[in-house]
Amino acid sequence: MKEIILATNNAHKVKELSKILAGKFDRIYSLADKGIDVEIEENGSTFIENAIIKARAIADIAGIPALADDSGLCVDALGGEPGVYSARYSGKHGDSKANNELLLSKLSGIKGSNRSARFKCAIALVYPDGNIVTAEGAAEGVISDEYYGQGGFGYDPIFYSLDLNKTFAQASEEEKNSVSHRGRALAELMDKL
Ligand code: IMP
Repeated sequence: MKEIILATNNAHKVKELSKILAGKFDRIYSLADKGIDVEIEENGSTFIENAIIKARAIADIAGIPALADDSGLCVDALGGEPGVYSARYSGKHGDSKANNELLLSKLSGIKGSNRSARFKCAIALVYPDGNIVTAEGAAEGVISDEYYGQGGFGYDPIFYSLDLNKTFAQASEEEKNSVSHRGRALAELMDKL
């Protein structure tokens, strides 16, 4: 029987990933299903390093293959910031309002296509024997100069997608998934499995 555990505490990700992985695995576990409650330090300098760190830690504990993702926003005019610090850009983990405000203030005076950015996502599937399968995806856009839309999370209200011609917060969940960094990384992973 093919089993996998998802190395995330995010219920939304568990739901999304379970749906997509159902065709390839017989049993898909969340951390809660296995009673795993650990704090993993994401101290890698790239998304892929962090995804591998998380997946490896959970594969070691659970003894079955573990899948983890890591993602963030990279703004060209800021040398790739906030990058791996996306969740805690303003100093407080998960404070989207403060993160967005800081980003907009750093980009004040920068116009049009000079506000180019991309969301990046890395996914790692780590097997207990050490084997690793990785995949990456990106979504191109520009940082808008104000907030548009109510949907999504994080930087979505200020990320104007060049695929959708609207911000991710203005897009439906299906629209966003069809072009998102996470959707594309997952599609690549599924092709590799
Ligand atoms: P995580 O690695 O998926 O937890 O993402 C880290 C951070 O990147 C999040 O806290 C958000 O700030 C940002 N981020 C990642 N993906 C998205 C997205 O699809 N929309 C908006 N923000 C995102």
